[in-house]
Amino acid sequence: MSIVVVGSVAFDTVRTPFGEVDGALGGAATFFSVAASYFSPVNVVAVVGDDFGDEHLAVFDEHGVDARGIERAAGRTFRWGGEYSLNLNERTTLFTELNVFESFQPKLPPEYLESPYVFLANIDPELQMSVLEQVENPRLVACDTMNFWIDGKPEALRRLLRKVDILVINDEEARDLSERYNLVDAANAIMGMGPTAVVIKRGEHGVLAFLGDEIFSAPAYPLDKLADPTGAGDTFAGGFMGYIAGCEEVDPANLRRAIVAGSVMASYCVEEFSLAGIRNLDQEAIARRYRAFQSLTDFGDL
Ligand code: AMP
Repeated sequence: MSIVVVGSVAFDTVRTPFGEVDGALGGAATFFSVAASYFSPVNVVAVVGDDFGDEHLAVFDEHGVDARGIERAAGRTFRWGGEYSLNLNERTTLFTELNVFESFQPKLPPEYLESPYVFLANIDPELQMSVLEQVENPRLVACDTMNFWIDGKPEALRRLLRKVDILVINDEEARDLSERYNLVDAANAIMGMGPTAVVIKRGEHGVLAFLGDEIFSAPAYPLDKLADPTGAGDTFAGGFMGYIAGCEEVDPANLRRAIVAGSVMASYCVEEFSLAGIRNLDQEAIARRYRAFQSLTDFGDL
């Protein structure tokens, strides 16, 4: 079943110890859409500027993503810059230019309104809410956010969380949002704000998921070559939502598989800069790495 996603479509400038890119196609909604497209139909809502060419839109087309919800406005596309040191788990944001997102008022195409799955990728919580309010009777609503919004728009974020089923967030953000250091405490506090599940991304340490009263842990795939972690979180969310939108039931067993599907996609993302690691995958590559995850964590009985 289809997913509607709102989030940034961006030009990213990224420096890591392994290289750099300037003005590469990125943004939370872009990484999410490409990753989710391997599992389920995706409808994307975003805004881009007049500097966004057809060659950039092609990535959505190539993956069968419905991009009728990407509006083109006068001005510059969202731009973000970040730098990583050797510890790729930590990054410094060099700049965030909202540009056309500053005055964006999303209006969903009629074809999107009945999408049963909604993912509110990292963007202004007021925009996330405005998209959510337009979707009729969603079956599952998940969202992401980041410190920029936790600190910048705390009330709007709290209002949104009351309407969200699953929050997908990184560890530092979970601590910031809950004002608790211990992640179990933090997840419980966040579940008190509305979501019934909290999926905490921990970079190279994998994922710790609180699914109601169950806890599930998945490792990150140990890679010998890492180029650029940008977008790994959104790519994880894309694999996760894409998988779950393809399931009959949203139950803990499928949520666990969805978390591993997300981890598979994120592991491909970080191997290359920008979208290069996830642009040309196929089902065989995804299945192969899923099996590698299985054997990584398989231990027999005592
Ligand atoms: P991630 O590495 O998963 O946190 O995502 C990085 C992506 O998020 C980049 O492609 C950026 O363009 C985008 N991004 C960074 N900051 C923001 C922000 N404040 N709002 C929306 N998107 C952002």
